[in-house]
Amino acid sequence: MAHALGIDLGTSNSVVSVIQGGRPLVIPGPDGHRLHPSVVSFGYGGSVVVGHAARRQVLYNPSNTIWSAKRLLGRSFHSEEVRKSREVLPYELVEGPNHDVRIRAQGRTYSLQEISAFILRHLRQIAEDHLGEAVDKAVITVPAYFNDSQRQATRDAGTIAGLDVLRIVNEPTAACLAYGVGRAMESNVAVYDLGGGTFDVSILRVLGDVFEVVATAGDTFLGGDDFDENIVKHLVSGLKEADQVRVRRNPIALQKLKDAAESAKCSLSDSELARVKVPALYKDDRGVDQDFEATLTRAQFDRMSYGLIARTFQVCDQAMRDARLTNRDISAVVLVGGMTRSPVVRDAVQAYFDREPESGVNPDEVVSVGAAVQASSLVNALSGPSGPDALLIDVTPQSLGVGTVEGFVERVIERNSPIPTHAARVFTTTRDHQTEVRIRVFQGESRAAADSELLGQFSLVGLPPAPRGECRVRVAFDIDASGILNVSAEDIQSGRSASIRIDASVGLRPEEVEEMRFDSLGF
Ligand code: AMP
Repeated sequence: MAHALGIDLGTSNSVVSVIQGGRPLVIPGPDGHRLHPSVVSFGYGGSVVVGHAARRQVLYNPSNTIWSAKRLLGRSFHSEEVRKSREVLPYELVEGPNHDVRIRAQGRTYSLQEISAFILRHLRQIAEDHLGEAVDKAVITVPAYFNDSQRQATRDAGTIAGLDVLRIVNEPTAACLAYGVGRAMESNVAVYDLGGGTFDVSILRVLGDVFEVVATAGDTFLGGDDFDENIVKHLVSGLKEADQVRVRRNPIALQKLKDAAESAKCSLSDSELARVKVPALYKDDRGVDQDFEATLTRAQFDRMSYGLIARTFQVCDQAMRDARLTNRDISAVVLVGGMTRSPVVRDAVQAYFDREPESGVNPDEVVSVGAAVQASSLVNALSGPSGPDALLIDVTPQSLGVGTVEGFVERVIERNSPIPTHAARVFTTTRDHQTEVRIRVFQGESRAAADSELLGQFSLVGLPPAPRGECRVRVAFDIDASGILNVSAEDIQSGRSASIRIDASVGLRPEEVEEMRFDSLGF
């Protein structure tokens, strides 16, 4: 049986797994590491390094070394999130032709899909070297809260890397699959996932080998980086005002301090005290190198983290409300993401759910293992009559609707609807003799179009002229099993129709994806 990869394409690190001989195998790189940094570094003369080699370049080649790119994937250049990122990232972001975000490095411009594709190609190479065979099929995971543009961008990244993306699966769903498959459970499971850049919580109902997501909620801008930033603020505040400015204005110094803050945070997961030492952090007013030294206690770190952790529980409250469950109905809590190694996070989660989180599940690897379980099921289903081993019923994370002329959004699909799904609504013309309608597709929970995210728009033309309200247009939404939306509109009387795959707002066009494919470029 050919292998199919399960890929956790993370903000900070990525993991690749397969099912071999019925057991999950987390594939190590040649250096033995099982976590591969999601970092791509461009050198002179077109050289590209990825993973650990690239991470080492963050400090020495900051403007050409791309990290945390997942935070920007599928977002509009003018979004608040991108504006914030531009302030802190040492590499250059530019606006793409479709208001998407592009990155300039070594004089070339890259789409974020290409950056992710470099990471995916690296993971594929690691897998092929380890397994000694070519592998081209994969299931890739995304945060449950990723919207349609972000999912489509992830799928396109896989295509650019030459992978056949069998399915895009939500990270918490994959984690639950890895934890629950083969256990013959009958329970509600909460998956609390706090990674480098995002937070997600999902509530799943597990009935034997059927995994049904009943609610999911998240914040795509809350993760370990924010905990690091708190530490950086705390460390900088200990300096004299003029030195604070020197450090804040120097991207290399800031990066050094951020790295030191992150390692202090990680060591506080195992000890009560962390020493922070950064040699030659900045030059004083006489131009003399100044070393930085400080200590951070676990208690100090805990105190500065409560606010961020409280934000994760607001998201959990929403998921529990949507699932119509109380904490007492949850019979297992699975932790995912590197940040859940912090005792302050574990303790708070235990207190929130009034239950000790499951041990024995590696929070860094569980998502990729679940993706491999799903990949293997899908390949088995393709090649034999046995059907998938585990049935995954996922949900769409945000509500979807059509914009009206009054500036409202008419819901077509409610958030947390099981996918794949199909729904349609009939709209009428608002002007006499109207021959064209513009369909604008929005995502989000607000009823106001201005507060929702415009995913894409298209027109249905050639309507027969008629008094307003008489011409009826049926707008249908189809979401496939990967959570990707297709929208079509049909004039009920004439049968004339138009449709779009929702990739028009900030995504790449299919021709662009084809042009970027590494195999077509001979990379
Ligand atoms: P992920 O996105 O799941 O790879 O999680 C990455 C985040 O987890 C980063 O913010 C890391 O600093 C953080 N992390 C990794 N290991 C630990 C640890 N032992 N203790 C606390 N945080 C950690």
